[in-house]
Amino acid sequence: MKASTTKSSKFTIDDQILGEKCGIFGVSGRGLEAARLTFYGLWALQHRGQESSGIVSSDGKQLYRHTAHGLVANVYHEEDLEQLVGNLAIGHNRYSTSGGGEEHHNQPIVNYEHNFAFAHNGNLPTWEKLEAFINDRGVDIDKLNDSGMMAAAIGCYLDDKLSLEEAIIKAYPLFEGAFSAVAMDKNKLVAFRDHCGIRPLSIGKLGEGYVIASETCAFDTVGAEFIRDVLPGELVVIDERGITSYQVVPGNQKLDIFEFVYFARPDSMLLGQRVNEVRQNFGIQLAKESKIEADVVVPVPDSGIPAAVGYANAMGIPFEAALIKNRYIHRTFIRPTNEMREHDLRMKLNPVPESLAGKRVVLFDDSIVRGTTMRHLVRMIKKAGAKEVHLMISSPPIRYPDFYGIDTPDQNDLIATKKTVEEIRDYMGADSLSYLSYDGMIEATGLPADVFSTSCFNGVYPIPIGQRSNEIVKIKA
Ligand code: AMP
Repeated sequence: MKASTTKSSKFTIDDQILGEKCGIFGVSGRGLEAARLTFYGLWALQHRGQESSGIVSSDGKQLYRHTAHGLVANVYHEEDLEQLVGNLAIGHNRYSTSGGGEEHHNQPIVNYEHNFAFAHNGNLPTWEKLEAFINDRGVDIDKLNDSGMMAAAIGCYLDDKLSLEEAIIKAYPLFEGAFSAVAMDKNKLVAFRDHCGIRPLSIGKLGEGYVIASETCAFDTVGAEFIRDVLPGELVVIDERGITSYQVVPGNQKLDIFEFVYFARPDSMLLGQRVNEVRQNFGIQLAKESKIEADVVVPVPDSGIPAAVGYANAMGIPFEAALIKNRYIHRTFIRPTNEMREHDLRMKLNPVPESLAGKRVVLFDDSIVRGTTMRHLVRMIKKAGAKEVHLMISSPPIRYPDFYGIDTPDQNDLIATKKTVEEIRDYMGADSLSYLSYDGMIEATGLPADVFSTSCFNGVYPIPIGQRSNEIVKIKA
């Protein structure tokens, strides 16, 4: 991958990619080697985006930026980190399904005219107001995506001589959708979240400074101590005075429950709950809802492991890691055609026949989206000699697309929108198929239903999706 370290190129807002599920990180504090900490933090957040990575740092005099396509481990070399000087930095891992290999797609976005940088996790399904505003201000919006427009709007208010936090607060009503974001100028770090807190964002303490991360697992990696979440609708400023909080709009917590189901790392804490424990509870709950007589419980690694452990323990069935994952294969989910995805799956997962032959197998995964993975795995496991294959899915059927920053296909491509559970079972060639019930999923989180966005399961979108609602049809459960 060709890398670039830009020190002072003139600001351009160009064709940033669509805002997708991503990982963000920020750090500020005297004596802290901010870019190096951000590098480690982004490495811990690699699962949130594997397309590209970027860090912007400041030494109080100017901003330094380095971004490139690829995994964190490949994007930054020692000499890159040495150039990213200063005690203040933000970083971003990008996940995307589209967009070419051009570096200008990468975040953090930098505006050298106003000396600020911005990184966004989430997605704005509607942007009419935002577009009209920056259009009015004479910014060419031609090639901007949602994140680019957000940065442009902040830039417009900085033109009005507002401080960074004032500019963001002023621009805030223009941001209609899901955003957990970090921004910085030469001297301060800012973090803010949409009023529903759809995507996670937490604050940690490190030495004399503070760290912001999409997930708390990144705090463990850099040796920071988790303090609290950035609240829905809150903006925090971190500078030499410490933390200053502004409740920009009233918050109404609606964390995307898919963070618990699939997306977050099991060792992260979300809303005070350990993700791993919640996923095990999904399996325990499934053991109450769907009892299968079987010889072995097998997870799809890694996403199916905690729920499979919960189920196996609750049912008293042996757990076996009988599918082996090649850890160096990424992105099977996002390949454009089913054939390509199938081919990638063969590269990614391989069975241990001795653990499966002649057995009644319960196969666990966290979710079925298009159905490619499970269909392929059922065939693979039967070929390895399994007598029966029973599928357990530790979430309800996904019937609606996501508009808040997780990549899901069009509603038409979601298998559960077109087929009944029995039809899906038949299509998979499985002996049975059990999904976790909606109520069971909520109960297993140990949290009330109203703190979640569950849009991909029930089509209820807590932040209006505007015109995008034309893309979905309501389905009778
Ligand atoms: P599919 O093969 O299309 O049914 O996709 C299901 C598989 O993709 C499961 O193994 C999930 O763990 C995984 N998965 C679910 N949602 C996502 C996502 N947004 N990005 C990547 N993988 C996902």
